Amino acid sequence: MLTPLPPLRVLIAAPRGFCAGVDRAIQIVELALERFGAPVYVRHEIVHNRFVVDRLRGLGAVFVDELDEVPDDRPVVFSAHGVPKSVPAAATERGLSFVDATCPLVSKVHRQAERLIEDGRHILFIGHAGHPEVIGTFGQVPPGSMTLVETEEDVARLDLVDSENLAFLTQTTLSVDDTAAIVTALQVRFPSIRMPRSEDICYATSNRQSAVKAIAPECGRMLVIGAPNSSNSLRLAEVAERMGVAAKLLERAADIDWDWLGTPLTIGLTAGASAPEVLVREVIDALRQRFDVTEEIADHTPERMVFKLPRELVA
Ligand code: SF4
Repeated sequence: MLTPLPPLRVLIAAPRGFCAGVDRAIQIVELALERFGAPVYVRHEIVHNRFVVDRLRGLGAVFVDELDEVPDDRPVVFSAHGVPKSVPAAATERGLSFVDATCPLVSKVHRQAERLIEDGRHILFIGHAGHPEVIGTFGQVPPGSMTLVETEEDVARLDLVDSENLAFLTQTTLSVDDTAAIVTALQVRFPSIRMPRSEDICYATSNRQSAVKAIAPECGRMLVIGAPNSSNSLRLAEVAERMGVAAKLLERAADIDWDWLGTPLTIGLTAGASAPEVLVREVIDALRQRFDVTEEIADHTPERMVFKLPRELVA
C-alpha cells in the first residue's frame, strides 16, 4: 500500500510575477524580431530572468553588454531597467536602429531627475549601487549632481556643500519599509528637502510586497521565484523574513531545497515581477510530487496596469 503524501496548503500570493513593464519589454523584443527578423540585439538582460532571456534567445535575440558589440546593420533594444542618456546618443551617432524598452515608470523618474536639476537641486537618490536602473538614472543628469543613498547610515554620513537645495528620488523596486525609514531620516536631517510628487516605488513592487505581508502570518515557509539579481524578488524574500517566515529565492523548481522546506502545513508562494507564471506552475508541480497539495490564491490587490507599446513597433 502507498504511503499517503503529507498535506500541504500552498498560499499563492496575488499579485505576483510579471508586471506591466516586464510584459511590455518582452513584447518589444518579440515584435522587433517579427518586424526586423533575427538577430535582434538586446543591450543587457531585457529583464532579470534567465528563463525569459533563454526563450528570447531561442527566438533570435542576442544579448550583449555594450553597444559596440552590436553590428551596424542590426537593431538593438534597450532593457526595461533604463539606460544612461549616453547610450541612445551613441546609437544615434552610429546610425543604429534602436527601440527603448525602458519601463515608463522608470522613464518617469528620469524626467523628474532632469526637472530637479533644471530647478537647481542636488538629488539624493535612494537605491542599490550597481543596479542597472540606478546606473541608468544617474546617466540622466550631469556627473556630481546626484548622490546615492543606500541606508539610514548613509544619510547620517552625508557631507554636502549645500544642504538647503536638496530633493530625493528613489529606485522603483525597493523595499517599501526600508525606503520609508530612509526618507524619514532624510526629512529629519534636511527638513527642507523636496519630496517627489508621487511615489517612485512602482505599483508592482509595492503590491507584491503587500501580498507577501498578507499571507506571511499563515505560512511556515515562503518560496519566492526570481533571479538572484532581481531587486524586487530579493525584496519579497526580505519582507517574508522580516515577518518571521523563513524564505528562499529560487529560479526554477529544481532549486527547491527539500530539507530546508521540511513538512510545514502551509507555505507561501510568490514570484518577482520578472518571473513568468509558467515557473509558478513548475514549482507547484514539483511540490505535488512530494505533498498532497491544496492550492489557494490569496488575492490582495487586483492589477489592471497596461503600458502602450512604442509606436514604431505597432504602427
Ligand atoms: S517592476 Fe515596476 S518599474 Fe520595474 S518594470 Fe515592473 S512596473 Fe516597471
